Parts: sequence; structure tokens; C-alpha cells
Amino acid sequence: MRLELRGHGERYLCETLALLFFPAAGFSDAVDDGLYARATLQEDTVSITLRAHGRVVAAEELLHPGETAGEGIGRAFFRAGWALTGIKPPWGTLTGIRPAKKVRQLMDAGLTAEEAAHRLLRDCYTEPAKAMLCAGVLESEERALARLNRKGVSIYLGIPFCPTRCSYCSFVSHSVEKEGRFIPSYVEALMEETRATLAALREAEIPVQTVYMGGGTPTTLTAEQLHGLLKLVGEYVDIGSLDEFTVEAGRPDTITAEKLQALIECGVDRISVNPQTTDNDTLLRIGRTHTAEEFFDCYHLARTFPFQVINVDLIAGLPGEPVAAFHKSLHDVIDLAPENLTVHALSLKRAARLEYKDMERTSRGARDIFDMLEEAAAATAENNYHPYYLYRQRNTLGNLENVGYARGETQCLYNVYIMGEYQDIVALGAGGVSKVVGLPGGRIERVFHNKHFHEYIADREKLAINREKLLHLLKLKRSANLL
Ligand code: SF4
Repeated sequence: MRLELRGHGERYLCETLALLFFPAAGFSDAVDDGLYARATLQEDTVSITLRAHGRVVAAEELLHPGETAGEGIGRAFFRAGWALTGIKPPWGTLTGIRPAKKVRQLMDAGLTAEEAAHRLLRDCYTEPAKAMLCAGVLESEERALARLNRKGVSIYLGIPFCPTRCSYCSFVSHSVEKEGRFIPSYVEALMEETRATLAALREAEIPVQTVYMGGGTPTTLTAEQLHGLLKLVGEYVDIGSLDEFTVEAGRPDTITAEKLQALIECGVDRISVNPQTTDNDTLLRIGRTHTAEEFFDCYHLARTFPFQVINVDLIAGLPGEPVAAFHKSLHDVIDLAPENLTVHALSLKRAARLEYKDMERTSRGARDIFDMLEEAAAATAENNYHPYYLYRQRNTLGNLENVGYARGETQCLYNVYIMGEYQDIVALGAGGVSKVVGLPGGRIERVFHNKHFHEYIADREKLAINREKLLHLLKLKRSANLL
């Protein structure tokens, strides 16, 4: 697509909006693929012209008082895109990763959740079901925030290894087959970093509220490696005072009774067991080396251990998976009654083997995914789950969302605090991105580790520099009384 901007610099926003209607579009002035968009801002008027394969549509919007150019561009783009393609994105003009953020801003300005949801319908063309989802998430978020320790941090430990690589994977993860021999040196480096960082936090009297080990697939590690690493956390953090200790066990083909026992012995109280689907044909197609039956066995095994919360992940829109298979997966999982259920809309990033341009070919299309998510919302509500967190990723089918559902008060605090940027996060391991939030002017500072595990293992000096920088920011925030 050729994109022309006049009178403003909202390129990223325009690209994101264009992807709502042309999901496989690339952006280049050099290549003519028959797609063109022009976004003009003149005083308080926005006009959008879209051309696709010879058809042209234009739309104009006046900025409301106090509105940003981006908001007006969003509305005009939405109207032109809808008229040209017939696609009506359910989230309307809300393109950010946290659609509920807009509702929170409106509530902070004095509106009730219901009034704020109404405003989304009027100003952002959001469908009522999505606006109500935002309102529901914020209601649940309020309860999680009542427990937030603003002086505290959450810890993330990253394990970037998986048994094999799933075809849709967009994470930095390495298959055990190719890179498994490096796991012992990785664990050693991670233990060294964990030891040094937790000691520094303890010395600075910064409490840890939640710990989350994710991946990759953490249970790729042996029971001994898991035990060693998690026990180490307990040497520096009072496990009894933690509000949550999660290990995203992940793939059923890596989970054994021995590993579950190791997690229990180290104080882990929340795990994930993730089939993504219970359809064996789909599992085979996406390169997961386990069957639905193995998932069920693994789930039942995990239930024999005293974890307080088990989460199960599903993905809507997996390549070639019919809507009926998703519905079956959903009801299979609900029948198991896990405390948490997370439903993702398939997101494909550049790193995925399955390319984004294949999306239209390999899925039934965004409308089907929309239906799958609607079914998930209805079925979870009928079975006493409530939505408690919500986020989106770029390149998600139909620009749709990932939603965490919980029964009772079992919502994952880590997910709420970190996704909502309510708490500082200390991320350990390759690719870790630590964040200090709520600095003057609402600023957020990030500290990035090396992404690749080889560089992470080799460059201990960078880890020490990062630790110093992070500790400095954490202490600064606390001494400046910004909590
Ligand atoms: S289990 Fe998750 S992180 Fe690992 S390859 Fe599959 S999608 Fe990627």
C-alpha cells in the first residue's frame, strides 16, 4: 500500500488502521499493489481517501473539541475502510494493545463504566459486545488493583526453550532438538542473575508481590533444574508472603509428576497447562507433538497436586481449524473446570513460520474468529467465569483480542498488573524487558536484556550493568515518593 500523509505525522496509526481492512498489506512507495491511502489534516478537518484495485472511497470528519488528530483520523479511516471493503472491525477505531485503557481514561475523567462504554460506541464505533467486555474487565481489574502493592515488584523468569516449534509461534523460543544442549548453561546463567538481582532487591527493601515463570515452555527443564531455580527464589523471597507464584508449564508433552512435585515443593500455586485446541488434526497441523488425550491426562495429573489455580490456554483461528472444532475445544476445557481460561485470537508475527499473508488462506476469516470469541464470552459467562484481562497484539486475526477469564477471585494478579502497567516488573533471563512505571510525567523506563540466549549467557557484564540501572530506577521512584 502506498500511504500519503498530509499535515500530520500519524504514519504508525494509519498503517494500523489500514491493516484492519487489508490484513495482508505491506507499506511501500516503491511497489504498486493496487492499494493507496491518503490521510489529510487541515485545521480541524480530517479527510481520508482510500483506493483499492481501482475503487475509491473518501470520508471526512470534524475533530470534536479537545480531540486529538489521531481520534479524528481513526473515525474517518474507519468509515472509508468500511465503505470500501464491507469489513466492520468490531473494536472500531481502538487500535491499541489495551482497548480497555480508553475506558479507564474516561472513568478517571468521572464517567461510570457504563457511560464510558457508551462513549466507545459513539466516538470509536466499537461494537456493544466489545464495549461491554471492556467495562467487565475494568470492574474485575478494580478488585485486583485493591490488592496491588505499589512499593512491590513482580518478577518474571524467562525460559526460551520448547520441545518443538509450533507453526504459528511468534516468540523467541528455541527447540530442544536443535538447542537443547545449551539448556544447562542457560539455567546456570539465569540462576546467577536471579541470585544477584533478588539479593539486590532484598537489600533495597523492595518487596516481591508475584513471581511468574514463562517461556517458551518452562517445563522443558528437568525436574532438578526447575527445583534448583525455583528453590533459589525462595532463598531470597519469603514464598509465604507472595500473592502468587506461577509457572506457565505450557505444553502437556513436557509435564511429568516429578516436575509438578518440584513446583509444589517450591511453593508454586498457579500453573498453566495449554493444549491450544483439543482437535487432534489441528494439533498435528500446527506442529504440536502431543494429542488431546495427552492434554486431558496431563490436566488430570496436575489436579492431583494442590495447585490453587490451573489455567488453560486456547487459541481461536488456528490454521485450518473449523469453528465447530473450536467450540468443541472450548466446551471440553470448560467441562474440566479450570479456575482460569485464556482465549487468544491467533496472532502471527514476522518470526512465525506460518506467514501473515497465509492468514486469509489458512483461516475461515476474521468473521469466524469473531464468532469463536463471542462463543467463548457467552460460554464462559454461562459457566461462572468473568473476563479479567484483555489485550491485543498487532497482526491478530480480525484485530481481535486475547481475554483471560477467571472464576471467583482467582484472576492472575501478574497478568493484570503487568499488562496494565500498574506495577514495576523485574524480568530475568534472555529477552527480559524490565519496566519501571509511573515515573514523573507518567514516564515508563525499560531495561532490555540480550534477546538471544547465547548472548545472554556470554555477556554477564551487560547483566550487571542492567541490574545497576534497574535498581537505580526502582530506588529513585521509591525515594521520590512517586508511589
Ligand atoms: S509452545 Fe508456545 S512458545 Fe513454544 S513454540 Fe509453541 S507457541 Fe512458541
